[in-house]
Amino acid sequence: MIDILVAGGGPAGLAAAIRAATAGLEAVVVEPRPLPVDKACGEGIMPSGVAALRALGVTPAGSTLRGIRYVEGPRRAEAVFRGGPGLGVRRTALHAALHRRATELGVRVVTGRAGEVRQDDDSVTTAGLTARWLVAADGLHSPLRRSLGLERPRTSPRRYGLRRHYRIAPWTDFVEVHWSREGEAYVTPVGEELVGVAVLSRHRRSHEQHLTAFPALARTLRGLEAGPVRGAGPLRRTVSAPGAGRVLLAGDAAG
Ligand SMILES: Cc1cc2nc3c(=O)[nH]c(=O)nc-3n(C[C@H](O)[C@H](O)[C@H](O)COP(=O)(O)OP(=O)(O)OC[C@H]3O[C@@H](n4cnc5c(N)ncnc54)[C@H](O)[C@@H]3O)c2cc1C
Repeated sequence: MIDILVAGGGPAGLAAAIRAATAGLEAVVVEPRPLPVDKACGEGIMPSGVAALRALGVTPAGSTLRGIRYVEGPRRAEAVFRGGPGLGVRRTALHAALHRRATELGVRVVTGRAGEVRQDDDSVTTAGLTARWLVAADGLHSPLRRSLGLERPRTSPRRYGLRRHYRIAPWTDFVEVHWSREGEAYVTPVGEELVGVAVLSRHRRSHEQHLTAFPALARTLRGLEAGPVRGAGPLRRTVSAPGAGRVLLAGDAAG
């Protein structure tokens, strides 16, 4: 029998599978989409995340991040990371590196979608596969979290995220968080000629409309759009328990 079945081949699912494989367990990942998957993300990995990836044997190429700077009009407040640098890394590069490491360790990634879960004292079955344990890493909207009755009603205001890349040499090695009443824009260097701008806000508007709240930033980026806008939300989820029986929630699925 498979030791650990992982539903969802995002960063959380692949990291769980890699960790299981390095502990000598057989891990299988079920993922409906071809890897690597791109998605809305600010693409900034904090120093502790970089260390966690290194411990998994995953070292994606990216841009060194020295700290965080908050920007509101002419005001600036910044701090350098104390635990070494972070990393700005394209989501697809991170995902490809995780997938490569998982494959290297013998993790099987199968195309499929976890649906109904059946479990007893010894095993759990979903997507036609039976394992001793199931890690539900099926993302923000986690169908497994819902089907297991672990979803909590939302009490906090809804927030949405949109991300777009711009073809421009990064002007800083800090993540810049541009601040306004409307929301925040996170600017992350992710390549020699590429920055990502993720906007988080309570308002549902286009990325372009959001940028009007940050006029200086909008002027710098005008005409340099590279690639499509990706979005996600509502962002904040809470759960009533970390798992149920032989199923453990992980990553965004776990709130
Ligand atoms: C705008 C924005 C900016 C962000 N910025 C940052 C940042 O700068 N730094 C940072 O660390 N985090 C950031 N985050 C958060 C980060 O992107 C998520 O926390 C992370 O992607 C969660 O990974 P995950 O593996 O849990 O989920 P996901 O990456 O969503 O992966 C879930 C996977 O499950 C699969 N799946 C779905 N349903 C099923 C099913 N039924 N069966 C099997 N598989 C299924 C999906 O196809 C998907 O591949 C940001 C998020 C947003 C929205």
